Amino acid sequence: MMRRILFASLAFFIAIFNSTAQKIKKKDKVVIANLQREISFLASDKLEGRRAGTEGEKMASDFIISEFQAIGLEPHGDSSHWLQQFDIYDGRQVASEHFVVNEKELDPDKDYFPLAFSASKKVEGSPAIALQESGVPWFIDLKDMLESNQNNPHFSLPDALHAKVKDCEKKGATAVIFYNSSKLQDNIAFNAKDRSAASTIPVIYLTQEAKRKFLKDESASVDLKVDVNIAEKWRKGHNVIGYLNNGAATTVVLGAHYDHLGHGEDGNSLYTGSDKQIHNGADDNASGTAAMIELARWLRQSKSKSNNYLFIAFSGEELGLFGSKYFTEHPTVDLSKINYMINMDMVGRLNDSTHALTIGGFGTSPVWGGLLDADPDNKYFKIKYDSSGVGPSDYTSFYRKDIPVLFFFTGTHGDYHKPTDDADKINYTGELYVVKYIEDLLENLDGKGKLAFTKTRELQTRDMPHFSVTLGIMPDYAFTGDGVKIDGISEGRPAQKAGLKVGDVIVKLGDYSVSSLDNYMEALSKFKKGDKTTVGYKRGNDHAEAEVQFNQ
Ligand SMILES: [Zn+2]
Repeated sequence: MMRRILFASLAFFIAIFNSTAQKIKKKDKVVIANLQREISFLASDKLEGRRAGTEGEKMASDFIISEFQAIGLEPHGDSSHWLQQFDIYDGRQVASEHFVVNEKELDPDKDYFPLAFSASKKVEGSPAIALQESGVPWFIDLKDMLESNQNNPHFSLPDALHAKVKDCEKKGATAVIFYNSSKLQDNIAFNAKDRSAASTIPVIYLTQEAKRKFLKDESASVDLKVDVNIAEKWRKGHNVIGYLNNGAATTVVLGAHYDHLGHGEDGNSLYTGSDKQIHNGADDNASGTAAMIELARWLRQSKSKSNNYLFIAFSGEELGLFGSKYFTEHPTVDLSKINYMINMDMVGRLNDSTHALTIGGFGTSPVWGGLLDADPDNKYFKIKYDSSGVGPSDYTSFYRKDIPVLFFFTGTHGDYHKPTDDADKINYTGELYVVKYIEDLLENLDGKGKLAFTKTRELQTRDMPHFSVTLGIMPDYAFTGDGVKIDGISEGRPAQKAGLKVGDVIVKLGDYSVSSLDNYMEALSKFKKGDKTTVGYKRGNDHAEAEVQFNQ
């Protein structure tokens, strides 16, 4: 599941069913064994976190294809292949670089490197290091800037470098060569994720050692040749698409993303250690992928034939729903014939005591209400309905095309987006019941024709409370009591520093009482970076209060 919007506030209503123990039948045991086999493979270290566009993604897609083939689906991706390929922007890279000082070519590995926002350009000139004259390259020592801002918490070096280059451009410099003669670390590096506009002149960082070695004499003029070429880097993501053709007029899409975070290279990990670790993503979302495969196996044998079924394992979800957006822009079936879409993202961590299951997209068709509300068979789940068609997973892309959607989710947890989201933590029996619940649903919808679509209440970005601070907690979306229950805590953020723990229920923030996620967000929006306040919370039966300071 995508990290960014998981924290968005949701409107929901609750239905509670009696939970009774159910006996597991023989054919259910086969499904559990399949789920175990599929999730163990997809979440194994050799797939290295299934990052979109990597070898790990390829191994995962090969596996899904072999399952689809064994089940008897038809390929339905690009020109009747299993895969549908799309581009992923991967940031900037140096295509070529030359820095020549007095006919001596410097070594880009140890003497210098261009900054990612440098212009791609070739410049020559003969400046004196100490002089800054129009029409030649300038040398800029970062010493003063670093020393005078040493204790300034608001200082941002990247911003300062950008501003400095702008200033030099204006005053006629034809290139900027930064160096740092101070004893302070600057940690300047080529930032591939830099999204700022490129400058109009080349920008180079020269190491202290190279400065001393090649440009010692500040008053002498030197012959410089600077040639920088920065290029965009792209990688390819792949959706896997299988089709069950029942010769019907409408098609149902069953989707789950199979990509995950790799080693956290794309900046979407919540792991705070400095070493690179594989994020196996067993729950997120090997679990949903396996559930989809098992539904395909069941549907192939089922008597429910009044729809065709399209099974899509999306990639690029963790980067921002890339795969599902691409599919809905480049559909391999007629979008107007899609009946509805069911999305499974994180369905492997059902809590054995609460049996809480979130079903999203509830408001996207009037049919869902009648069907789910009156589900007499469900004695197992405590279901929390979220009406919105928009949320942190791939169903959003289909909702945007006016297709009714449902989203299944067993809730977040402390391993979310961390290297510890592993296969041995999956609740396989719980996931079996999610699969069976969806089977019942598909059966009930068979023969009901094409479902009507309704737009749902949608919190537009402009309507959302705007907040510039966070406590660094992950709320428990399945919690039904008063307040916001903490399901995960980010290290080094205010909540952790204040001593809050997973399981605590926040009931007050400053003077604002907190009874729901909605008013928690509302309360947060009243604070600014650096503000100090108090958090009132319940731990078990105890009430406590802690001081927090929001990060700068
Ligand atoms: Zn995720």
